[in-house]
Amino acid sequence: MKIITAGFHHESNTFNPIITDSIDFNIYRGNEIYDAMKTYESVRGVVETLESYDGYEVIPTLFARAVPNGEVSNKLYYSLKEEMVEMMKKIENPDAITLALHGSMRVEGLGEAEGDLLEVIRSLFPRVPIVVALDMHATVSEKMLSNADAFCGYKQAPHTDCFETGALAAEMTKITLDTGKPLTMSCHRIPMLIAGEKSETGTQPMKQMIEELRDLEKKPEILAASYLLGFPWADSEDNCVTSLVVTLDDEDSARSEAEILASKFWAERDNFKFHTDSFEPKEALEQALSAEGRPIYLSDSGDNPTAGSSGDCTGLLEIILDSPGVEKLEKPLLYAGIYDPVAVKTCLKAKEGEELTLTFGAAFDTVTTKPLTKKGFVAASIKGWGDYSADMVLFRTGNTEIILVSRHIGFIGPDMFYALGVDPLKRKLITVKLGYLTAFHKEIAAKTFMALSTGSSNEILESLPYNKVKRPLFPLDKDAVYK
Ligand SMILES: [Zn+2]
Repeated sequence: MKIITAGFHHESNTFNPIITDSIDFNIYRGNEIYDAMKTYESVRGVVETLESYDGYEVIPTLFARAVPNGEVSNKLYYSLKEEMVEMMKKIENPDAITLALHGSMRVEGLGEAEGDLLEVIRSLFPRVPIVVALDMHATVSEKMLSNADAFCGYKQAPHTDCFETGALAAEMTKITLDTGKPLTMSCHRIPMLIAGEKSETGTQPMKQMIEELRDLEKKPEILAASYLLGFPWADSEDNCVTSLVVTLDDEDSARSEAEILASKFWAERDNFKFHTDSFEPKEALEQALSAEGRPIYLSDSGDNPTAGSSGDCTGLLEIILDSPGVEKLEKPLLYAGIYDPVAVKTCLKAKEGEELTLTFGAAFDTVTTKPLTKKGFVAASIKGWGDYSADMVLFRTGNTEIILVSRHIGFIGPDMFYALGVDPLKRKLITVKLGYLTAFHKEIAAKTFMALSTGSSNEILESLPYNKVKRPLFPLDKDAVYK
């Protein structure tokens, strides 16, 4: 069996003015995917699982991914799509197509990307099964549904089951090919948006509902059951939570089970709460300063680049820099960080330790935030760090050390601190632009607080300027009705 694979991953935040472009994407062509699979887990799940089956041959085409950010450049999207299509056209008589997509990628001037992409792939291979592994935060559209045979989404947030989800897509591909029976899929729209920080799967009510998905998948007629939560920081017509069930040639079961899942989810709508102690920024800093243990973490949640925010908002940082409590800390507060390529360049030109006056922040988002100008010095720097090859600078001003980065990256683990010569275990207070902490940070955090700060990943969804989402929609409309 000859299976085409491809991948396209981006979560696009429509409130962030940055256009995500080629500099932000890592792109792999053909066999390059085998090098990228070390970090590209859903694709690894697809490829390794298919290759483990006797008689199955995987044909990798194009894979692209970037850190969540603003919408994707129109020109870049169409050129990558064209390249992917040209590679696929050269493959004669494939038996199936198994893809790893995000599901909430948006393109400037186009809107949702996955439906557009699946439509063209379907037109190339009208009678070939198309099976897709999605992110849990996928926004399911009509166009996606009508141009694919089966979807399955991650069941863990933080996403620790990307490999398993890719593997499940591969298994469904094998089942339909081996039996010759069609995959049947049904979904149900649930008119809700949920901030990621209220839907970690280690907490209720998500924990229980994910267990129910897993129980459902134990039934012989059910191949995959997913809750696809949509992406709250995108003002898109299709945004909502979707329950989705895949069966083998059993439409009735798919339909009835998807409906039951949707009712269960809706019944829990008032039970989604923040599970990290969350406060307005000033109060959050005070709480963090008076907490016992170290390091204490404080999330700058409104400007979380891993939720597609710009990463250059300075609201919480300004409060930190004005805080007498921070000045009294034995070791500097570590702030990770600010995305500002110009400020990084300026710092890299300066000598380490030499005083300079630096303007930083609001390099992209000039609406919700403003730049700050402070005297300080460069305490450390490193070039070309990590998967996205970012230049990083540790800028010290007062009793705060700010990590400035030249690329739009997530502040996902303490390895970047160590790379700059900072031992996070010796710091009392660390601020990160994240919502809930990643497992890497959680492992060392003595306690975590979340500042409900402003930015393009504002956790208070009711305060965001939505225009396009279909109303009524909970919690924007508290009296939303589900049918
Ligand atoms: Zn996600």
